[in-house]
Amino acid sequence: MKAAVLTAPHHLAVVDDLPEPVAGPGDVVVALEGLGVCGSDLSLHDGHRAVPGTPWVVGHEAFGRIVSVGPAVTGHEVGRRVVVEPNYACLECADCRRGRTSACARRAIVGMNSPGLLAERFAVPAAYAHVVPEELAPEDLAAFEPFVVARTAVRRSEITKGERALVLGAGAQGLLLSQSLLARGIEPVMIELHPGRLARAVELGATAARADDHGFLWLYETTGVAQALEAAVARLAAGATITLVGLDAAPLPLTMEQVVRGLYTIRGSLIYDHPHDFRAALDDVIAERVRPSVALTNRYAFEDAPRAFAEARRQPGKTWIEGPR
Ligand SMILES: [Zn+2]
Ligand SMILES: [Zn+2]
Repeated sequence: MKAAVLTAPHHLAVVDDLPEPVAGPGDVVVALEGLGVCGSDLSLHDGHRAVPGTPWVVGHEAFGRIVSVGPAVTGHEVGRRVVVEPNYACLECADCRRGRTSACARRAIVGMNSPGLLAERFAVPAAYAHVVPEELAPEDLAAFEPFVVARTAVRRSEITKGERALVLGAGAQGLLLSQSLLARGIEPVMIELHPGRLARAVELGATAARADDHGFLWLYETTGVAQALEAAVARLAAGATITLVGLDAAPLPLTMEQVVRGLYTIRGSLIYDHPHDFRAALDDVIAERVRPSVALTNRYAFEDAPRAFAEARRQPGKTWIEGPR
């Protein structure tokens, strides 16, 4: 069976000798139809994040078709198309029982601490393979998982209809977050230094922030550069909620005094919680409130996966890879 495996940093290869996956009692085996390449996959590829062992199958934003079903599975049939929720929580720890599966310390993070999905076929726990209607475009499924991340940040912020929100960064996550805000009747006001990316965000319905735009009650950070917050915080009104989606090990560039005097709420948002965030996001896409495909720019054939990874950082939007034919 074919798979794209990492053998060393920057060395991704398509091999055809991987063993066939076997569906455990609660699993389904899925034939890959497409997979989105994510920043975290690229960190692994570039050696900024360690792999548990080599060769390592990469990738996690996958969709495909069920080809076999484990004996304990109900509600999943061979031939149905599914999109994978690539974080398998234990569902037993205190965080999971509180509904915060994103904080589960025993979470299997597909492609990172658990083998990835850029393979001809792979096994997934059935509860994490969400059946989708046939009519959804492959492109919307290829960018679906990062859309769920964006939508969950919006949900957790508790923003309401009719508001204006400042969004930092018009990369894939910033674009998807803006789409999620627009779907809720909220105006995204974008701060983005790259003119091409800003133009794309505006084309998709966001407003470019003017130098004198101030008084925001809502701020979403998607760049992953803590320093970017400094100027944005100066635009906030008292009582603002700051939702952080990007990850940066650097401390925040704001003081305790600024937070206290500004009456700010700072909220972190990591991925999504099982299973309701995936289902709710799917409802948005089925109802055509959002098209996650807007974040994509480049498509590659499966055999070109090494080139897709090598070129992804230079592309303006997200890269995705089609399943083998
Ligand atoms: Zn991802
Ligand atoms: Zn857990």
